[in-house]
Amino acid sequence: MIEVEHLKKIFDSTEVFKDINLKVNDGDVVGVIGPSGSGKSLLLRCMIMLERADSGRIYLDGDEITAPGYNLDSVHKRIGMVFQTFNLFEHLSVVENVMSGLVHLNGMKTIEAYDRAKQLLQEVGLADKAFMYPRSLSSGEKQRVAIARTLSLEPEIILMDEPTSLLDPLMRGEVESVIRMLKSEHRTMVITTHEMELIRQVCNKVVFLNDGIVWEEGTPGKIFDNADRDETRRFVKALRVLEFDVQSADFDFIGMKTQILDFAYRNGVSTLAMNRLMSIVEEFVQMIIIQQQEDNRMKMTFEYNKHEERIEGNILFSGEELDPDNPRYVFSWPIIKMRATEIETSLIDEDGYTNRVFITIK
Ligand code: ADP
Ligand code: MG
Repeated sequence: MIEVEHLKKIFDSTEVFKDINLKVNDGDVVGVIGPSGSGKSLLLRCMIMLERADSGRIYLDGDEITAPGYNLDSVHKRIGMVFQTFNLFEHLSVVENVMSGLVHLNGMKTIEAYDRAKQLLQEVGLADKAFMYPRSLSSGEKQRVAIARTLSLEPEIILMDEPTSLLDPLMRGEVESVIRMLKSEHRTMVITTHEMELIRQVCNKVVFLNDGIVWEEGTPGKIFDNADRDETRRFVKALRVLEFDVQSADFDFIGMKTQILDFAYRNGVSTLAMNRLMSIVEEFVQMIIIQQQEDNRMKMTFEYNKHEERIEGNILFSGEELDPDNPRYVFSWPIIKMRATEIETSLIDEDGYTNRVFITIK
C-alpha cells in the first residue's frame, strides 16, 4: 500500500502540486489521467523518489520513504517503474538488461540471474529475443523488455508512465496484453495514460489530476460516464471526441490520420470501424475540400459511443448543396454510403456552413 499525503511542488514559481493526496491499496490498479503538464509523470517520479516534493509525505506500507536518510535502494527494489521511453541499456543484450538489477541490486549470482531473466522473458513473450540488442527490437518489444526488467526485482508496486503512448497502434496491443497479465496476477499498479480503453480494462480506480490537486477520483465507469465535476466531464469528453476544423486545403491531412488512429486506440474502437472512419474522412476531404474550386470549409466531430460500440459523426461544410450526381461527388459519395451504417443529410445555415451530414459508423 502506498499513501501520498499533502504533496506540494513548485517549479519556477508554478505550483504544479498544491496538495496531492492519494492512496493505493494492495491489488489496486490506479489510472492517472489529466491534461498535459498536470504532473502525472511528476507524481510517479515522486512516488519512486526520483524527484523530491517540496513538502508532504509518502508512505510505503506505513514506512515513510520521504523521511530524511531513508534508503533509496530499498525504495527502488520495492517500487518498480516503466518509462514512456523504455530506458533500456543499449549496450546490453535483452537478457542482460533483465539480469542487471538482479545482479547489481540483489547481488544474485550470474547463472541464477540468467535463469530468472529467461523465465521473465518467457512471460512477456520474448524468450527468443534474449540475445538481441535493444536497437534491433520493435518499440513494443522494447517496452516488454522494460517490463520484464521491472518485474525482475519483484516490486510490490509497479508504476507505468504512459507505457503505450510512443508505440504505434499495432505494438500497443502486445504491451497491453502484458499489462492485463500483470493485472490477472493481482499486482498493484499505477498507470498514467490517455487510453480510456486500457483504463476500462485494467483499472479499478481512476484519478483525475488537475490544477495541482486530485480533482476527482472514482471507478472508470464513474469518471468516464458519470463524473461529478464539470472539469472532469470536459476532460473525458475531449478524450472521447475527435474534431477536425478544416479551414482550407492547407490543413495537415497527414496529422489527421495519426489523430484518427490515436482516437481509435484510446477508445478501443475496432479495427473495422477505424478503417471505415478513416475512409469516410478521406472521402469527405476529397469531395468537399480537394475537389472544390471555392474555398470550402468543413468541421467534423466524431464521438465514440462505448455502449453501442459505434461512432457518431457530425459533419458541417460550406458551399453548394450536396448533390450525389455532381461529378465531384460521384466517386466519393457511394464509398461513404457503403462505409456508413446510417447517414442523414440536411441543409443548414450555421456559422457559414450550409450542409450537415450526420453519420454513424459501426
Ligand atoms: P504530465 O506528465 O502530466 O504531462 P509532468 O509531470 O511532466 O506533466 O510536468 C508537470 C509540470 O511540472 C510541467 O509544467 C513541467 O514543466 C513541470 N516540471 C516537471 N519536471 C520538471 C523539472 N525537472 N524542472 C522544471 N519543471 C518541471
Ligand atoms: Mg507525462
